[in-house]
Amino acid sequence: MKKEEKKAAPVLTIDELATFCKRKGFVYPSGEIYGGLAGFWDFGPNGVEMKNNLKREWWMFHVYGRDDMTGIDGAIITNPKVWEASGHVASFSDILVICKKCKKPNKIDKHELGKARCPDCGGEFDSSSAREFKSMFRTDVGTEGFAYLRPETAQLIFVDFKAVQNDARMKLPFGIAQVGKAFRNEIAPRDFLFRCREFEQMEIEYFIDPKENCPYEIGESEILVYSADLQERSKEPVKMKFKDAFKKGIIKTDWHAYWLEQEFLWFTNLGAKAENFRIRQHMKDEKSHYALDTWDLEYNFPFGWKELQGMANRADFDLKQHEKFSKTSMSITKDNGEKVLPNVVCEPSQGVERAFLVFMCAAYDYDKKRENVVLHLHPKLAPVKAAIFPIVKDDKMIKLSEEIYKDLRREWNVLYDDSGSVGRRYSRNDEIGTPYCITVDTDSDKGKDVTIRERDTTKQIRVKVADLKNVLRGLLSGETKFEKAGKLVETRVKEGKA
Ligand code: ATP
Repeated sequence: MKKEEKKAAPVLTIDELATFCKRKGFVYPSGEIYGGLAGFWDFGPNGVEMKNNLKREWWMFHVYGRDDMTGIDGAIITNPKVWEASGHVASFSDILVICKKCKKPNKIDKHELGKARCPDCGGEFDSSSAREFKSMFRTDVGTEGFAYLRPETAQLIFVDFKAVQNDARMKLPFGIAQVGKAFRNEIAPRDFLFRCREFEQMEIEYFIDPKENCPYEIGESEILVYSADLQERSKEPVKMKFKDAFKKGIIKTDWHAYWLEQEFLWFTNLGAKAENFRIRQHMKDEKSHYALDTWDLEYNFPFGWKELQGMANRADFDLKQHEKFSKTSMSITKDNGEKVLPNVVCEPSQGVERAFLVFMCAAYDYDKKRENVVLHLHPKLAPVKAAIFPIVKDDKMIKLSEEIYKDLRREWNVLYDDSGSVGRRYSRNDEIGTPYCITVDTDSDKGKDVTIRERDTTKQIRVKVADLKNVLRGLLSGETKFEKAGKLVETRVKEGKA
């Protein structure tokens, strides 16, 4: 049998990705030794690093990188009246339906009643089985009674709105961001991390004076636009610039076009491929009654185009509701003395787990030549930034490697590895996405230099130990090109199997 036939590149399915994530310490089914619990996941040693990197990058881009944004970290359990005012107690629910063919329970949205089919077997749903299923988890609080686990982070932003605006001295237009856990009692968790019962959200409420236009420029990026009109007429999405979709009146406000583009850019700047994204407008029967316009940023997952991020124009619905229920004014006074109840012109609402899946799907690549998976994660997202190895177990080399390792770990998550062949160590690191491997060899002691190998190209450069931190800083931030960071050298080690 020929080598190529023996080792065909596997086609990535969501189940294979889940298996890979478990094998490589990214994500485990929660409580697996007891059989797990559907919709709950634990992030392992590599997963927690990548997830933290992802959240930090989101905060850098959306909060630190802007003048008009501040943040909060609200409680998971709050006064249940918050959820009465927001409308969740009355209407945060799905429709539970049972498939006639495979008998599995499934969730559908209200507008899908009579239209949707079973995602597992394609069977028809038994319409007589349809019933409302409340999606908020309840828990007990001391002797006070029950409360809910928050189903979204957004409401805490509205409830704290006045205090935050005052304390951070924010002037319209401005946004408040939050990253944190959310819980939904999903009827049918599915597709690995895509639909969980416990997950995290990265959300922004962006407040404006409704009279104000967007002062920010909308760029030149293009995306597939799937308007409500195209969906109604069963047409395909059309590629166009975000700014043109606004000019043509497809996206209703400049604000919405601007934020949709920003969210798309956040993903593509971190390595996700532009062609796997589209924006889809909610149809009339799908949109919440209070929303003026809603768009989802969708991604072409291995199981099809699905919502990655929801972005609704919620107008003044939430602040008005909290004013009504709490009898606290939510208006703010502008510099000119005018009182205004701000409008939420858009609410970019992103699930951390769905973003994690996007970056994993985008990075995963079975490299036929190397005969192992290479995870092409952006260095900013990679769980381990560099691995340091002595080329053989020689005392001098071990000593220098350990010194380098101890020095680098003050700044980054790095690892030291001296087990197995160097080829195997490269492969192990390729599989978890480590962008750079640093090897100490026989010449290192004399020349006070080491070799850095780049994950994606396997090219190698020689760099002085004294310059290593600076070089790595430049490489990880993307400011320095690999070939420019040191002297290119011949690859000495044969690329091997993990
Ligand atoms: P879906 O239609 O897929 O149930 P949704 O419209 O209810 O999603 P939103 O309420 O708009 O979702 O939530 C905002 C974001 O939070 C979603 O775009 C998604 O990224 C994330 N999210 C929502 N529900 C889940 C879940 N069960 N598991 C993982 N992420 C979720």
